[in-house]
Amino acid sequence: MSKERIRKTARIYALQNAVQFNGKANPKAVVGKVIAVLQKEGFSPKELIPIINTVTSEVNELSLDNQKNELERIAPELLKKEKKERDFSLPELPHAKKGKVVTRFPPEPNGYLHIGHAKAAIVDYEYAKMYDGRFILRFDDTNPENAHLEFYDAQKDDLIWLGIEWDEEYNTSDNIEKHYKLAEQLIKQEHAYVCTCDTSFIKECRFNGKECDCRCIDTGESLDIWGEMISSSIEGAILRLKGDMTCDNTAMRDPTLFRIIEKEHPLQGDKYRVWPTYDFSGAVEDSISGVTHPFRTKEYELRDECYFKLLDLLGIRKPHLMEFARLSIEGMPVSKRKIKPLIERGDVLGYDDIRLPTLRGLKKRGILPQAIKKFVLEQGISKVESSVTFGLLEAANRKIIDPITKRYFYVSDPIKLVIDNAPQNEKKIDFHPRDKKLGNRTIKTDKTFYVEKLDMNKLKVGDIFRLKDLFNVKIKKKNDQITGEYAGEELISDSAKIQWTTDKYVNLSVFIPHVLYIGEKFNKDSLEKVEGFAEESVGNIKTDEIVQFERFGFVRIENVNNKIKGFFTHK
Ligand code: ATP
Ligand code: MG
Repeated sequence: MSKERIRKTARIYALQNAVQFNGKANPKAVVGKVIAVLQKEGFSPKELIPIINTVTSEVNELSLDNQKNELERIAPELLKKEKKERDFSLPELPHAKKGKVVTRFPPEPNGYLHIGHAKAAIVDYEYAKMYDGRFILRFDDTNPENAHLEFYDAQKDDLIWLGIEWDEEYNTSDNIEKHYKLAEQLIKQEHAYVCTCDTSFIKECRFNGKECDCRCIDTGESLDIWGEMISSSIEGAILRLKGDMTCDNTAMRDPTLFRIIEKEHPLQGDKYRVWPTYDFSGAVEDSISGVTHPFRTKEYELRDECYFKLLDLLGIRKPHLMEFARLSIEGMPVSKRKIKPLIERGDVLGYDDIRLPTLRGLKKRGILPQAIKKFVLEQGISKVESSVTFGLLEAANRKIIDPITKRYFYVSDPIKLVIDNAPQNEKKIDFHPRDKKLGNRTIKTDKTFYVEKLDMNKLKVGDIFRLKDLFNVKIKKKNDQITGEYAGEELISDSAKIQWTTDKYVNLSVFIPHVLYIGEKFNKDSLEKVEGFAEESVGNIKTDEIVQFERFGFVRIENVNNKIKGFFTHK
């Protein structure tokens, strides 16, 4: 009796802990809870712990759905006490007034957006909303070697998919004339000069803290060369800020403000050959477009001094520059610079490869924009650089899709099962164990089934298992197919519940993404393809629907011209 009391109490708290933590209860946590309850009744920890551990591992064998169902049955009050959602709202901005905050997201149109950009865009957008302010989308397209026409629209499509709306949109390349005027002002003020030294000499001087002769050319001559840079074919000249060649912050050692890039621009054509650097255009655009709180990633920290110095010298408004850490995910390249070569080398299939953290890759895999937003806000705007696991994004996504996705049967690596005395059935099975509103389907069964080889390997002749939601089967023979015998309908606790299909199945390949890098090394086996049989009704699922194949995982379906395939979302 007392053992039974311990088992019952342990079961309840193991279920509760498992449901709170995605199906896996932590034995230590369960032990703590149960001891707290039962010690008062005179039980000693010594007799409790072994039983609690056994019960916890039994509970961990169940699927999350089954855990929730059981808990709902035996202790519904504990199900309601699922972990309270933490409040992940963003902290207040400094110097911010309602209606007066302006933020901006400034992507370079040189590739598809990834989840790092999503972080920046979501933070910028959310702050503008929080203060009834304005949010600007600005294409930082001042390097014609990088900018490509296709990416302006592609990036906008990606932002729209994320649910981001902007109040204003413009291209930095539309403001080049303004930039030229400000550059001229700096030259006239003797705060900038044209330098014609070669690159290696400039580097050497920066390294040694030495000024070059160009610094002393008089203003008139500097203005003349600047004019030639813009209008004619003078080569190899740059405009530099008169910073401080001995400054400890090397970013201040006369940084380049403009350089010549002879390349047709996707929007401006060959109108300009002199283009501002990020140091110049970033600071100037934030200022003149009215941005009050521009966010940059922490890697630019050393360049902040230059940002403010430029605005000071130009006598234009200085925004409250904000910083957060760059988002990194273990085993994933969260950077356009790293993603591009993977595509060019053919290491991945394209920008929407499901192994990539591009928004297109994530979408294809079945990650929802709401999950990305939740994940980003959970990370917050800390400046601490760290790498998070993709599992955090998966957890955010799972929470959203688990209550709304239909369950179907899918059997990977199938083996035939014949049950000669099986009753003919027309079985109505709910699509979701906890939400009847998701409907049901009726499956006709006869004597032929397919089940997973892996499941069968764990069982031997004479064992009884259950075809999930159907009936029990006793194994009679095992060779290249399984012969079974009908063994009643009654639920037998502890018997394995096996996924199945009838002989009316659809072939379904599911692509499973794994991390692209293990340490620094490219993972050659990062894309796995699983072949299997799905129950017949899966053939009618439309593209983009996410389903759950129980014990396999969530899968996004693509169904084009009757060719169906699946992309593994996560467990
Ligand atoms: P990439 O290496 O991916 O090209 P980038 O910073 O050069 O990165 P941009 O298009 O210039 O890409 O960036 C637009 C905005 O997105 C910038 O404000 C940048 O700071 C931000 N951003 C880019 N990558 C990340 C990231 N991994 N985490 C957070 N913010 C990012
Ligand atoms: Mg960039």
